[in-house]
Amino acid sequence: MTIAKFYGADQFGLSFELFPPKTAVGMTRLAEQAGKLIEYGPDYMTCTYGAGGSTQSRTLEVIADIRRQYQLPVATHLTCVGNTADSLHEYLTRALQSGVRNVVALRGDPPQGEKQFAAPAGGFAHANQLVAFIRAEFPEMGIAVGGYPETHQEAPSPEIDLENLKRKVDAGADLVITQLFYHNEDFFRFREQCERLGIGVPVVPGLLPVTNLGQIQRIASLCGAKLPAPFTANLQRYENDPRGQFEVGVEFAICQAQELVAGDVAGLHFYVLNQSAATGRVLDGVALPGR
Ligand code: FAD
Repeated sequence: MTIAKFYGADQFGLSFELFPPKTAVGMTRLAEQAGKLIEYGPDYMTCTYGAGGSTQSRTLEVIADIRRQYQLPVATHLTCVGNTADSLHEYLTRALQSGVRNVVALRGDPPQGEKQFAAPAGGFAHANQLVAFIRAEFPEMGIAVGGYPETHQEAPSPEIDLENLKRKVDAGADLVITQLFYHNEDFFRFREQCERLGIGVPVVPGLLPVTNLGQIQRIASLCGAKLPAPFTANLQRYENDPRGQFEVGVEFAICQAQELVAGDVAGLHFYVLNQSAATGRVLDGVALPGR
């Protein structure tokens, strides 16, 4: 079953995004946390794909284990970084052999120290090319792509970025999952612009509940997400109180998710960062349609 089936009339898609741990201890912790996350009834889980070699093989290991253990549909993220068409083909063949039938198809960020992304020899320069490749070579696979409510950092304008998103959908993507954001109006504007442009697939908001001010400032600066000033100020009031920061973050995420649900979103995708506590608390505090 492809993950796009979880969105539509009378359906509300719930998904969690994991990352591949670097160590055996991290793998054990992830297995524990996945057991807790599953209790919240996700429709599917995904696992990110890193730039380094070892975490790439862990991506398939993590996500194939989740599928086997919980009989849950899963998606592997996949990027163009360091890949040729042949190595992508080989990875996707292994994914299918492990029962992984969905891909979050991405270009990836430029390797460290490089400002601009250059297509690897024999590989692809943009995600729309990767989507077209997967559609042609593995027509049975479900494909999600990334979208940017605050505009991708390299894009010359929001309009051009949206046209590039449309290229990915026209190439065969089944759904859009967004980058994390903290101003819902950015998401609602983005969704409306997608509709106006004829992007007819579900546009699913990606949420990262903040649990720690330092961590979110690092992540937000990497992807360009803006944090609302009152929210940051509130977190700063608890500078020396990790529990207080966690509570402020959870409270904000509950309000953010409630407003998105009231705005009739197709589903929610949580960047859970391999932890169940914050996402669990948010889901305890929000009534999801049909659940
Ligand atoms: P693209 O869609 O190729 O866009 C990149 C830039 O190029 C944009 O500015 C766009 O406007 C422009 N562009 C796109 N197509 C064209 C074209 N045909 N011609 C000219 N310009 C074009 N990164 C990882 O390394 N691993 C992950 O697992 C991962 N998971 C992610 C999951 C989600 C849901 C999201 C939103 C992002 C994820 N990322 C991940 C980050 C992502 O790799 C970066 O944001 C990257 O910089 C862009 O990837 P993209 O697929 O959106 O690229």
